Formats: sequence, structure tokens, C-alpha cells
Amino acid sequence: MKYIFITGGVVSSLGKGLTAASLGTLLENRGLKVALQKFDPYLNVDPGTMSPFQHGEVYVLDDGAETDLDLGHYERFTNTNLTRFNNLTSGQVYQTVLNNEREGKYLGKTVQVIPHVTDEIQNRIQKVAELSDADVLITEIGGTTGDIEGLPFLEAIREFYLDVGPENAMFIHVTYVPFIKAAGELKTKPTQQSVAKLREIGIAPHVLVCRCEYPLDKELRRKISLFCNVPYEAVIEEKDVDHSIYEVPLMLERERLDEIVCKSLRLETAPANMVEWQEIIRKLIAPQHRVRIGVVGKYIELQDAYKSVYEAIIHGGVAHDCGVVIERIDAEVIEKDGPEKTLAKLGGVLVPGGFGERGTEGKILAAKYARENGIPYFGLCLGMQIACIEFARNALGMEGAHSTEFAPDTKYPVICLMDEQHQVTKKGGTMRLGAQPCKLMAGTQAAELYGATEVMERHRHRFEFNTNYREQFEERGFLFAGTSPDNDLMELIELRDHPFYMAAQFHPEFKSKPNKPHPLFKGFIAAAHQSQHGVPFK
Ligand code: GLN
Repeated sequence: MKYIFITGGVVSSLGKGLTAASLGTLLENRGLKVALQKFDPYLNVDPGTMSPFQHGEVYVLDDGAETDLDLGHYERFTNTNLTRFNNLTSGQVYQTVLNNEREGKYLGKTVQVIPHVTDEIQNRIQKVAELSDADVLITEIGGTTGDIEGLPFLEAIREFYLDVGPENAMFIHVTYVPFIKAAGELKTKPTQQSVAKLREIGIAPHVLVCRCEYPLDKELRRKISLFCNVPYEAVIEEKDVDHSIYEVPLMLERERLDEIVCKSLRLETAPANMVEWQEIIRKLIAPQHRVRIGVVGKYIELQDAYKSVYEAIIHGGVAHDCGVVIERIDAEVIEKDGPEKTLAKLGGVLVPGGFGERGTEGKILAAKYARENGIPYFGLCLGMQIACIEFARNALGMEGAHSTEFAPDTKYPVICLMDEQHQVTKKGGTMRLGAQPCKLMAGTQAAELYGATEVMERHRHRFEFNTNYREQFEERGFLFAGTSPDNDLMELIELRDHPFYMAAQFHPEFKSKPNKPHPLFKGFIAAAHQSQHGVPFK
């Protein structure tokens, strides 16, 4: 087993996760089995309790773990199998250490950061290594060097490296080389200082991945090499991509990152076969078709709040050689200006998941507009609940119908709390989470798109469709095309007399990859293209 540790310097948001995932792509395409893992230094047990303002999207795994969005990159860029063990936070580490202490496991010792906390971190590296049965484990350390809370993680990987030896482990530091406009040049000092900080704690990086807006010339590379004590070839340029994040693996391949890694870890493989990946990029840069999709949400201004949704939409386009222009529409703007202004020229409308009442009326207006005007609609989780509320109010005449999440006393609670949720008092990890089976009704659009009658999809919600209303909905052509196998929970709906009106209580976006677009997103994009241009894909 070989270990790669990825740290970050200078500033956050450098795209360490993308770098880790892209290296994973390259190594997999060299025929290696890759595992990926993320360490997050914050004290939350998991990001599930954080607002998207804090930490972007919460990414859900099959086993129901609520994890950092970087795990989404790992799944999209590689075939790695992720479980709750692949995302470790300081909160989890301390929880384990404190439980051990209460159980008397430390035999009278003083419990300390070194060795007890650091050992616990190393245990997790071992555990993921054992579970994954991979050739290479890439571990990304969240945060930035110099952060107090990251220190135990850095100390742990320093010790780990010492144990397994230089042929079996290496450090990659992702750093920033800013362009200073007034001076008209790229500056290496922040990188020098960040590497110095790492060396102070005993970590000497083997590779520097330099994030920059402009190319690094030879002289600059030499300077970084000299001052940071890394070989010249190991100074890697990672410039901002022009079109798509999926270009990053190709960019790193051009810089020979995978070659350097394999040499350092004594891994002998053929060069990476990137043919499939190149074709994806070709479709992203120069697609044959184009379509406009509107995403109506409440965290529209945040880059990361609907990350997997945006990615899955793009994958749906890749499936048809179709570029997608995504318009991010603030639901509150629809409340103010009406739906026509923003939605009329779109091929399709997507309403993603969400919590809290703000913006719901705007989303309901968007769903109504799409339904009445034959515009393809795709709802995810809250987006399905919205579709049900809208149909109840406007097609079934249930005035004021709502979800009890937003209107506890509504006369028509078409969306209500799931039975098992009534007893729940704690917030963390208590929703209906993770992969659950969904049975599809034969002859529906969904069953046709999936090409299956039972599928597994990931969930993250507390509320659900109230089946007391099921018959009334069905009578008017509102199909419950997917349900839990026992028929109790409504998982997927579609409308009979509409080109494409589909919504799922689950989150299909978590299972889409650029080379394996999700069937529902694929179907949505096809319908949206036809709606916008009047012709189907050939
Ligand atoms: N707030 C809704 C619920 O809890 C929807 C959740 C979501 O969209 N992820 O059921």
C-alpha cells in the first residue's frame, strides 16, 4: 500500500479536493486501484449540521454518511468506494478519544493530543487502507498549513510517513502563486512561507502543486524549487481551467504529476490512458448542441451550495454531446418579478433540495409555470415536495396546501413528517439518510430512463408525501412512478400529460459521473433540448 498526503497552503479554496480527485483519475487510468479520504479539522462530527454558507453542499454517501463536498469530487473523478470512514473530522477524533477515556482504555495515562489524538488519526488511515484494498490511498488534509486546528493531523501524517518510509508515502502540497497586478508578476513568497511552515513541523513536501492564474515560467519554477527544497520537475503548475474542472487531470498529466508520484512511490505502470477523459473534455469544450437550464434555489449566490446538482446537469449534457448553460435563479426574485421573466426562455427548470421556508413560494411559482407551459421540470427532494404542494394548490384546489415543515397548521398537509421522525430530538445524522431501494412502476418515463424496475438512490430528508392524498393526486394524472418496496413512501413522481415533469424524493445528483451520467439527468437534458429547440437529439 502506498500513501499520498495532500496538504494546502496560503489560502483555502485552492481546489485541493479537485487536485486529489484528479490525481486519483490519473492513477486509476494507469491501472492502479485508488482509495481517497478526507480529514477535516473542524469540531463538528460531520458537516450535516452546517449551513451551506459555512461549508457548501453536504454530500451524502450510500451508507448515509453526511460528508464534505470533496467526497463528491472523489466519486465523480474515480471509481473509489466511499463510506463514512473516508471522512474524518476532529469532532469524530475527539469523540472517540473521550469515549475511550471514559471506558478506561488508556489505563491511567494522561490523555494528550500526542500520542492519543494523533494515534486515533493514524488508526483511521490504517482502517481505510485495510477496508479499501487499494494500491494507493490519497489522504487530503482540509484547512491550511498554519491553522492551529490542523496541527494534530499534520503531526499524525508526519509520524505515519516515518513509520512506512519514503518509498511508501509522500507529501504533496497545494499552494498559491498569486499574480500581483501592480507589479505585473507572479509572487512566490507566500508559497515559500507556507512550505517553511510545513518544514517547521517536520514535513518536507515532495511535490508542490502551484495554483496560479498565469503560467509559471522556468525562472519562477527554479526559484520555487530552490527556496522550497523540491526538485525542479516537482514544481507543478495548476493554472485556472478555461472550461471545466474535468480538465484538471489532463493539465496535471501534462505537468507529469502522475509520473513523478509513481517514480517516488516505486509504482511501475504504463502511462495513463486518458482517451475516454479527453472525449468528455471535447464534448464540454465544443459540444454539438446547447441548452439552457434554470436552477431555482435559495443559495444561488454560493458557488458550492448545489455543487453535485450543477455537475450532474453537466453530465446529463455530456451524455448527448450537449453543452449546458446553467442559469442560477434566486427563488425570491421569482416571488418579486413572477416566473415569466426568468423562466420563459429556458429549456428546463430544476428545483434542488433545501431546508427552511425562504424562497419556497418562488419555487412553487416556478413549478406551476413549468407544469402549465409544458416546460421540462426536474425536482430534487424539496423540489419534489414543491411539485406536490403546487399540484395540490393549483390542480386539486387545495388552497393553502403546504408542507408541515413550513406551515405546521395547514389545512392540507400534503407533505408531512415521516412517522419515524416524530420521536427524533437530536439534529445530527437523524434524517432519512443514504441509499434506499425504490421500486419503479412499469411503463413510466422514469422506468424507461433507468431501464430497471428497482433502483437504489441516496436520501437526505425528514418530510415526505402524505399518502392520505395519494388517490386524489392519481385521479388527476399525477403518477407515483417510484415508491419504497412496501409502497409506503412516495419516491418519484411524474405527470402524464407533460413532456417531462419529474421529481424525486431522493438525490440522484449524488450518483452521477461525467463518464456515467445519471439516467434521470440524461432524460431531463434531452427533454429540455427538445423543448428549447423543437427537435429531439438524433
Ligand atoms: N426540507 C425537506 C425535508 O427535510 C427537504 C430536504 C432536502 O431537500 N434535502 O424533507
